[in-house]
Amino acid sequence: MPVNHLITELKLNGITHPGVLDAMAHVPREKFVLSKLKTRAYDNVALPIEKEQTISQPYIVALMTQALFVHPHPQKILEVGTGSGYQAAILGTLFQEVWTIERIEKLHQKAQKVLNELGYDNIHCVLGDGTKGFTEQAPYDGIIVTAATSTIPAPLLEQLNPNGGVMVIPVGSMHQVQKLTLIKRYHHHYEKSILELVSFVPLIPDSN
Ligand code: SAH
Repeated sequence: MPVNHLITELKLNGITHPGVLDAMAHVPREKFVLSKLKTRAYDNVALPIEKEQTISQPYIVALMTQALFVHPHPQKILEVGTGSGYQAAILGTLFQEVWTIERIEKLHQKAQKVLNELGYDNIHCVLGDGTKGFTEQAPYDGIIVTAATSTIPAPLLEQLNPNGGVMVIPVGSMHQVQKLTLIKRYHHHYEKSILELVSFVPLIPDSN
């Protein structure tokens, strides 16, 4: 579908933030999908990428991004699960600094290359296990986890900004519908709500 149809569909589905809609209209998703799927780049569906992973559905990318604006002035964002790099590009368009972690080297390298080519010097790609977060840059105003887990990793909760930090994470196991969960942190208090039912690939912790 053409990109303007996608934007109309996102609006019909409750995406209202002008900055998010603008980023969705301008980040070239065709650069992040497999070349044989380029004609489907603006279809509102998840698509396969390499290594049995997926680039998320545009609606879900927009919804997760919009949710970060629950924080009054989000600047520093962590993404777990770089995958194609598309969600990172949307984040890099809207926020000052973005760190994104991927455990599969090939995907990490490919995403880093595309993001460099597009000129995103505020997006930092890290190879590693995102269940540990990325302590070097913590705390984060927003954390987006783009892989599903039945238990929310404690390091991610700890690395949220204690003063209104927001996390969006699919909670549930793989062959199950997962609950896209929004968590707001106020010091030792974590407030949870469910945004949507989703289906993500699993979050796989390092076995070491
Ligand atoms: N945000 C991506 C979608 C990624 S799919 C995009 O916009 O394209 C989920 C990704 O999470 C996969 O690439 C998978 O390899 C990665 N992943 C799974 N477990 C991980 C972990 N523990 N640490 C980092 N990345 C992980």
